[in-house]
Amino acid sequence: MTFLEYAPAPESRSVLHLRESYGLFIDGDFRAGSGDTFATISPADESHIATIASASEADVDTAVAAARRAYDKTWSRMSGRDRGKYLFRIARLVQERARELAVAESLDNGKPIKESRDVDVPLVAAWFFYYAGWADKLDHAGLGADPKSLGVAAQIIPWNFPLLMLAWKIAPALAAGNTVVIKPAETTPLSALIFAEILQQADLPPGVVNIVTGAGATGAALVRHPDVNKIAFTGSTGVGREIAKAVAGTDKKLTLELGGKAANIVFDDAPLDQAIEGIVNGIFFNQGHVCCAGSRLLVQESIHDDVVDRLKTRLSTLRLGDPLDKNTDIGAINSREQLDRIRELSAIGEAEGAERWSAPCVIPDNGFWFAPTIFTNVQASHRIARDEIFGPVLSVLTFRTPAEAIEKANNTPYGLSAGIWSDKGSRILAVADRLRAGVIWANTFNRFDPASPFGGYKESGYGREGGRHGLLAYLKGASA
Ligand code: ADP
Repeated sequence: MTFLEYAPAPESRSVLHLRESYGLFIDGDFRAGSGDTFATISPADESHIATIASASEADVDTAVAAARRAYDKTWSRMSGRDRGKYLFRIARLVQERARELAVAESLDNGKPIKESRDVDVPLVAAWFFYYAGWADKLDHAGLGADPKSLGVAAQIIPWNFPLLMLAWKIAPALAAGNTVVIKPAETTPLSALIFAEILQQADLPPGVVNIVTGAGATGAALVRHPDVNKIAFTGSTGVGREIAKAVAGTDKKLTLELGGKAANIVFDDAPLDQAIEGIVNGIFFNQGHVCCAGSRLLVQESIHDDVVDRLKTRLSTLRLGDPLDKNTDIGAINSREQLDRIRELSAIGEAEGAERWSAPCVIPDNGFWFAPTIFTNVQASHRIARDEIFGPVLSVLTFRTPAEAIEKANNTPYGLSAGIWSDKGSRILAVADRLRAGVIWANTFNRFDPASPFGGYKESGYGREGGRHGLLAYLKGASA
C-alpha cells in the first residue's frame, strides 16, 4: 500500500516569547529561588528550552505563607461573584493566548500540536469557564447554604497534560474560595510559567496562586508543609502511596488521581470502523501518556483477527515525528526515563511470550521516540497486561462471553476507566454496571468534559475531579 507523502507543515514558534530563565511565581511575581536550577528540554530533539528554578524547602515555605496571607486577607473574604469574575477573565485570556500555549506545550511535552491545539488548550479554557460559573453558586452544591473553603491547597501535577492538569486543579480550588500552591512536573514546567503571566494579566490578587517548580523533593516539601489544608495529587501510584502515608494522621484533606490499566472491551456486534478509531484514540492519543488510556484491548474471540488486521493497517498510516508539525499523529515520548520504561516493559512482553508488532515508522535521530506497538497473544498474567506502561503500547486479550469480559476487565489493581463497544444499549448498560472503574465510555474513548466527574477506584486513587463533585474536594464537610 502506498500513501501520500505530506510536506512538512510546522506551526511557527514565533508566537512564543520565552525568557531564558524562569524563577518561582510567588505572591504575584517571579522571583529567584534559593535552590538549584535545572533545564527543561524539548523531548523531540533534546534541545534546551529554558532554565528553571528548583524550589527549596524555604521557597516552598515562602509560597505557602503567601497563599495563607492571600487566603486570610483577600480570597476567602471575596464574594463568589467576584471570584468568578477572575476565573472568567483567566478563561478568556487562555483563549486569547491559545496558540502560544499550544506551541509551548508541544515544545516542552512532545505532544502533537493538533492535540495541544484542539484538545488540551480548549479544555483548559472550558475548565475555567465551567468553574467560574460555580463560584457564586456554591450554596447549590448540596452542602447547605454558604459552604466553607478549606484554606491553602497544595497541588502536584504530572507531565502528560501539564496545562490541563493545572486547570483541573486550580479552577475548582479557586472557585470554592481556596488559595493555591501548585507544583508542575519537572520535565514540563513551561506552560505553567506562561500561565503565571496570564494570572498577572488577569490581575489576580497576589498570592492566590503560587507556582513552585522543581522535582520530587519540592513536591515532598509541599506535602509535608504544616500550613497546608488540602493536597491534590495526580501522578504515579507509587508516589501517591508515599503522599497518603505522609498525610496520614494529619487533618489535611487528600485526593489522589493515580495510574490505570483500562480495559477497552470490543463485542462482536460493535461498529468496527468506529471501534478501530476509538481503540487508536484510546491508547495512541498523547503517545499513550494517559492515566485512563485503553491499554488493554479485550476483543471478542470471533472478531480478534479482523480487529488486529484493521488496527495494523490503521497504525501504518499514523505519522510520527515533529510535535509542532500539524500533520503529526504521534509525537515524542516525554523523557528518556519514560522511554526506558516503555522499552523495558515491551522487552518483558516479548520475553514472556507475547507477539510484538510495531508500526513501520521512521524514527528521528535525536529525541525520544517509540513506534506505536501492539502485543497479541497476551495472557492476563503477563506484565504488559498488568503494569501501566504509559506509552504507545496496546496489549490485546480475548474473551468469549460478557461474563468473561467483565472478569478480565476487573482483574487489575487499578480502576480508573474502561470502554465498551457494542451495538446493543442494554448490553452496554449491563456490562458498565459491573465494571469497577470510575469512568466508563460507551462507543467512544478519552472524552473529557468539565461537567463530568473523573476519578478512580482501588489503586487508581480516590476523590473526583470535574463537575459538582470536583468542587466538593475543596469544600468543608464534603468528601468528593
Ligand atoms: P510520573 O510517573 O507521571 O512521572 P510521578 O508520580 O513520578 O509520576 O510524578 C508526578 C508528580 O509528582 C511530579 O510533579 C513529581 O515531581 C511529583 N513527585 C515525585 N515524587 C514526589 C514525592 N515524593 N512527593 C511529592 N511529589 C512528588
